[in-house]
Amino acid sequence: MKKITIAVDGFSSCGKSTMSKELAKRVGYVYVDTGAMYRGVTLYCLRNGLISDDKVDEQRLGEQIDEISITFGIDENGAQYLMLNGENVEKEIRGMEVSGKVSIVAAVPLVREAMVELQRKMGDDKGIVMDGRDIGTTVFPDAELKIFVTASPQIRAQRRLDEMRSKGNFDVTFEDILFNVEERDRIDQTRAVSPLRKADDALVLDNSEMTIDEQNEWLMAEFKKRTEL
Ligand code: C5P
Repeated sequence: MKKITIAVDGFSSCGKSTMSKELAKRVGYVYVDTGAMYRGVTLYCLRNGLISDDKVDEQRLGEQIDEISITFGIDENGAQYLMLNGENVEKEIRGMEVSGKVSIVAAVPLVREAMVELQRKMGDDKGIVMDGRDIGTTVFPDAELKIFVTASPQIRAQRRLDEMRSKGNFDVTFEDILFNVEERDRIDQTRAVSPLRKADDALVLDNSEMTIDEQNEWLMAEFKKRTEL
């Protein structure tokens, strides 16, 4: 069967990574969560005092960018985790501190340049499902299957809250999350470099009213259309 590249883009917290992971598992492809990569760079910036008053010190970040290593590891259950300079930081990058700053770090052109280069290398051999904001527009404009996922902000915030609660995090409220989701959407859509937008040839998937099973079936059908020729 021919191997293809699958690009999944869309708004924050609309289930892109859950559906991309499941699709990759079903079809035996590699899955890459590019949001985790931007979160890893953000954690580096926070730890090294490169962000103040919602501004990134681009000059110092530029001097240090070659010292930032972003890689993925796989745990004993087969789950992927992000490593920042060899350290497993999966838990830290999902917290509200990183979530609150990631979109401003992801808007820095030199950060995008470095991440896009890494992402293209990962997808050299196709057979990949990559999720993010600019995969179908910038990273892999020739991807054979492009999906643009969306759902209402309230539904996305509720899903994110449920996920955090299930992981034992009770410190955040629905309002905190809704604010963060809408704010990230705004910054992601209005930044100068590679803003979040639907690629012209992407399929729109609004999953506000869909179950996970329905969504998985829809994705598999689209995958088959492109590979079973
Ligand atoms: O996917 P996730 O919500 O973890 O992504 C975190 C943030 O990283 C997004 O809000 C966006 O600002 C940034 N991002 C990006 N380009 C990507 C993936 C994520 O700008 N390809």
